[in-house]
Amino acid sequence: MPSHTSTPPPHAYTASWVWCQRGELRQGAAVVLQAGRIKEVASRPPQGCALTDLGEGLLMPGLVNAHTHLELSFLAGAVPPRGDFVGWLEELVASRPGHDHGAAAQATAQAVQDSITCGIACVADITNTGRAQETLASAGLSGVSFFEALGQAKCEPPPAGLAWRGAVLAASGVAAHAPYSVPAARLAELKRRAGDLPFCIHAAESQAEVEFMLGEGAEGRRLEEFLLARRLERASLGLKGLRPLAHLMDLGLLDQHTMLVHGVQLTPAEVRGLASSGASLCVCPRSNLGLTGGLAPVQALLAAGVNAALGTDSLASCPSLSLWEEMAALRAAVPGLAPEDILHMATAGGAMALGLTAHFGRLAPGLAGPLAFAPLERLGRGQVLEAAVGGKHAGPPRPVGRQQPLA
Ligand SMILES: [Zn+2]
Repeated sequence: MPSHTSTPPPHAYTASWVWCQRGELRQGAAVVLQAGRIKEVASRPPQGCALTDLGEGLLMPGLVNAHTHLELSFLAGAVPPRGDFVGWLEELVASRPGHDHGAAAQATAQAVQDSITCGIACVADITNTGRAQETLASAGLSGVSFFEALGQAKCEPPPAGLAWRGAVLAASGVAAHAPYSVPAARLAELKRRAGDLPFCIHAAESQAEVEFMLGEGAEGRRLEEFLLARRLERASLGLKGLRPLAHLMDLGLLDQHTMLVHGVQLTPAEVRGLASSGASLCVCPRSNLGLTGGLAPVQALLAAGVNAALGTDSLASCPSLSLWEEMAALRAAVPGLAPEDILHMATAGGAMALGLTAHFGRLAPGLAGPLAFAPLERLGRGQVLEAAVGGKHAGPPRPVGRQQPLA
């Protein structure tokens, strides 16, 4: 009888279609998992190995939600986005004081469970309290917790590094809220502190942000008044009248360890600048469209070679944490985008933005699970990815080979 410390036996999973990574869609391949990691991707199930045939559908790497705020889950539906970014901020902040901490913790736990259930393998979570990090760990969902600085307030990240419990990752990163809400000197200091760790910042999200940074326009003045009411004076921010991206570049914040979030307002020249910096961009289609009516120029970003990731943003601005629904929304908003590019953003793109390509985003030996499976009708090679990305599923997508959380 094996002891409880012995390695569990390998288990093979097969499906009609297996998408390993960009350019690698295989028919009927088998993925062998052992102790939560991929042992092998084979043409057929190895002899003598336990086997689950998932049937018709697409077996693929677990999804990477590259941007959310789990601890804002209690705000689900509180302030529906109506295309007025500053108005939404005002209403959202007004709804936060005095909330029930128990109910908020419960909403966070439910959001983590919902993420697991739809096949997310790793989540990049912005936190102001650190509370969600333990929720993630106890649920057995891998995550990078970005400790976010906002205004003059400090949110100190715990000692950095990748901490693994079995095949479950609990990593920490450094985040700053945005170029309009954190003083320039502090931004530079936070980026220095992040070093080789992932650094994350919301940027170029709204017209109001661009106008505020330039010191002009009615929307910019509305944002200025909003910030002033929270004792954040424009004069304290060290602005030089630059647009958001130029401001961050001027401060030396952009390199391959930095992930910008949103980028709705990026111009063609800024897309080229972002590409040469090596930084990643996370797009949150439903949140961006809801709050601003716009979306980052995704096709131009991909054409320029920018690593693009996909995130849901929080339940305060998005109706669910399903990255499948996010992919479908992106597909609908940008019909010219190839389905495989969207799948790549939702897997390997997120992993690269988080510095985790050795662990998530592809089906290859050594990478962590769980995998994701989307049940589909019987389809040919040319239709499979389109159906998976477009939400034309024959049943709810689900995780495959999920490890039970360690006690
Ligand atoms: Zn965000």
